[in-house]
Amino acid sequence: MSLDKNSRAAEIDAQIIDVLRHRVGKDERAAKPHDWYTATVLTLRDAIIDRWMESTRKTYAESGKRVYYLSLEFLIGRLLRDALSNMGLTRDMELALREHGFDLSALEDLEPDAALGNGGLGRLAACFMESLASLDIPAYGYGIRYVNGMFRQRIDDGWQVELPETWLSHGNPWEFDRRESAYIIGFGGEVVEKADGVEWRPAEKVEASAVDTPVVGWRGKRVNTLRLWTAHAFDPLRLDAFNAGDHFGALAEQVRADSLVRVLYPADSTPAGQELRLRQEYFFTSASIQDIVRRHVQYNGDIRTLPEKAAIQLNDTHPAVAVAELMRLMVDVHGLEFNEAWEVTKATVGYTNHTLLPEALESWPLPLFERLLPRHMQIVYAINSRVLREARKAGLDDAAISAISLIDEGGERRVRMANLAFSGAHSVNGVAALHTELMKTTVFSDLHKLYPARINNKTNGVTPRRWLQQCNPGLTSVLKDAIGDCFLDDAEKLSDLNALADDPALGERIAEVKRTNKIALAKHVKELMGIRLDPDALFDVQIKRIHEYKRQLLNLIETVALYDQIRSHPERDWVPRVKIFGGKAASSYHNAKLIIKLANDIARRVNSDPSVGGLLKVVFVPNYNVSLAEKIIPAADLSEQISTAGMEASGTGNMKFALNGALTIGTLDGANIEIKDRVGDANIEIFGLTAQEVEDKRANGYNPREVIESSRELQQAIAAIATGVFSPDDPQRYAGLMGGIYDHDWFMVAADFDAYHAAQRNIDRRWEQQPSWRASAIRNIANVGWFSSDRTIGEYARDIWGVRDRA
Ligand SMILES: *Cc1c(COP(=O)(O)O)cnc(C)c1O
Repeated sequence: MSLDKNSRAAEIDAQIIDVLRHRVGKDERAAKPHDWYTATVLTLRDAIIDRWMESTRKTYAESGKRVYYLSLEFLIGRLLRDALSNMGLTRDMELALREHGFDLSALEDLEPDAALGNGGLGRLAACFMESLASLDIPAYGYGIRYVNGMFRQRIDDGWQVELPETWLSHGNPWEFDRRESAYIIGFGGEVVEKADGVEWRPAEKVEASAVDTPVVGWRGKRVNTLRLWTAHAFDPLRLDAFNAGDHFGALAEQVRADSLVRVLYPADSTPAGQELRLRQEYFFTSASIQDIVRRHVQYNGDIRTLPEKAAIQLNDTHPAVAVAELMRLMVDVHGLEFNEAWEVTKATVGYTNHTLLPEALESWPLPLFERLLPRHMQIVYAINSRVLREARKAGLDDAAISAISLIDEGGERRVRMANLAFSGAHSVNGVAALHTELMKTTVFSDLHKLYPARINNKTNGVTPRRWLQQCNPGLTSVLKDAIGDCFLDDAEKLSDLNALADDPALGERIAEVKRTNKIALAKHVKELMGIRLDPDALFDVQIKRIHEYKRQLLNLIETVALYDQIRSHPERDWVPRVKIFGGKAASSYHNAKLIIKLANDIARRVNSDPSVGGLLKVVFVPNYNVSLAEKIIPAADLSEQISTAGMEASGTGNMKFALNGALTIGTLDGANIEIKDRVGDANIEIFGLTAQEVEDKRANGYNPREVIESSRELQQAIAAIATGVFSPDDPQRYAGLMGGIYDHDWFMVAADFDAYHAAQRNIDRRWEQQPSWRASAIRNIANVGWFSSDRTIGEYARDIWGVRDRA
């Protein structure tokens, strides 16, 4: 086959060869696959750059308002397929590469997975960046360019081993180093009074410089910028020290700068707490705020008009120090009065809360905060006295006032970052309806009394480009045949499928695609782990961070109960199941790591037991990340969303699975509730305690031992695990983990077990009725278009940022 000389593909082909020679420096005969990958990205990038500049020119011409999304995490994953598809160049690139004997998807696999985040919070930031560009909203994402992002997980003898992920080791063809966009970031030192105000004289300084990555929206409508900061020492090599023989000391400043951007703290839903983390937070926040203020003053002159041109959104409290940094720049550098600066700050800043767990709310020991950021400490005190004055005036009592205070006075004094963010923002949003309501009655109940208009809900979403079109091209093509391609531009148009839900031909075609995806996943698992999976079995998937509140343990104990029953009654017509687990545990989280080991111990035993006769397989797929999610989700029949009610703020994995035609088995938690409302009770399997019931049980003294003793299945499964049936090499391994369920069972594993077990048997019965299972799958796809991050971003744009949604 040869390309038509005038085609777009032929043009691209000529460009790739040119790039390969002149920018990669390779002759096409000598080029290795990685050189072709680089040439492919650079060729595509050239097309993107033209759009990027157009987008920037348009924003300046319209002097429009920009959105600034500050996030310590961006869990981006690979970019090639996303960017190609959004630019509409997939087909042409495929043809051009084929000319040279390359398969595009093989080159895509050479791209490292950019994992600058832990889980849902970081992935949300990445989906939001894509939707902002797709809705043609001018935006910058601001974060840190970690040299080592999320660790790579290896499973050794069933245990998690963490290895550094070197995603930048072959260079990164997507990024642009902007050494000219650099700012000084200070730490420590002292604040001196001067005639015209105060001056902060930091003891230490590092330079933050920008590294930009273009983010392409759907149909290439707009290209925005993800600006990640890297750190440099002012004096990278002190030659005097080096020449005097102090080779390490000579480099100390550079080492200190490097450490700021070296690693992502690999903890999810728990604050890291170390001084380096606070330094990272201030480093990227200060650079971002300085960049925003510089741009505003340069183009608009007066800092007082900032809220007309800039909306700053804080993704959780990690960038909450932005409130104090913006105040500092306005008061100390731009000479605004405190009150005026405070109004400008509030009008500009919005804060998104991601967790209710009181122990997970970030706070810093006051002496540490004061030592590192002495001027910010003064500003925090000034803000606090203002807020507490308002609270007094509003008639709040002492208990409410001490809960509202930015300083926690109980025991060791601490600075409460959530209270700082709440006070300094005009909008404070939760990420699902239940979560937002709980914010009002739990952690923020007193702040909510003081500022009742501030809390609002923005239910999370995911980008349907990555999480449907790109990860599941087979399904996308069937859907196009069924309802046309309008859903590509508006995911809510998927609802046209409702009329076809009972069409057996459509059900059949979607089931065929699912089977193809399952075969592809089975092949991957076979190559990776040597385990054979039957594509006709029900693929039952729980992939997410490993955390006790997400209750992988509930799933594992139920798996053991099922295993027991299959062995006791092999004659019954069991539904063949494949239990798929994946996820990383924070390196310091003992129980989470033990749960990974348990999953692997159960897998080894079950998979090698001939008496289950292939009715049950268990796999723990190592190194869960975005790329792996893109392979697993399209192959899932059942989505496990079984967190203890009231503990998962929203979840976004739940949305991705439903969009790909999996049924959900889940609790009434986070966005599961809204998924249920949309897909209908008949198309989802809901079980277990409600958030209210969990709260009541915890308050009224719940006795897990009693519950366990009244459930034969549960008692037997726990006993088997606790006595070493799955760990004969170390029979005591899980005694403590199981003992925890007997003793307090904070996460309600025992309380929800029977309901979960029964729900799983309902799933079996549903699965046996394939026509109705398929109709349910279609109704899931049809009714979760609302969970597109385009809808979420549209709501932020309208309600919080006041920017036009020009889509
Ligand atoms: C979507 C996603 C998450 C979030 O999953 P939850 O089930 O909502 O916790 C975490 N990690 C990756 C890689 C994801 O793609």
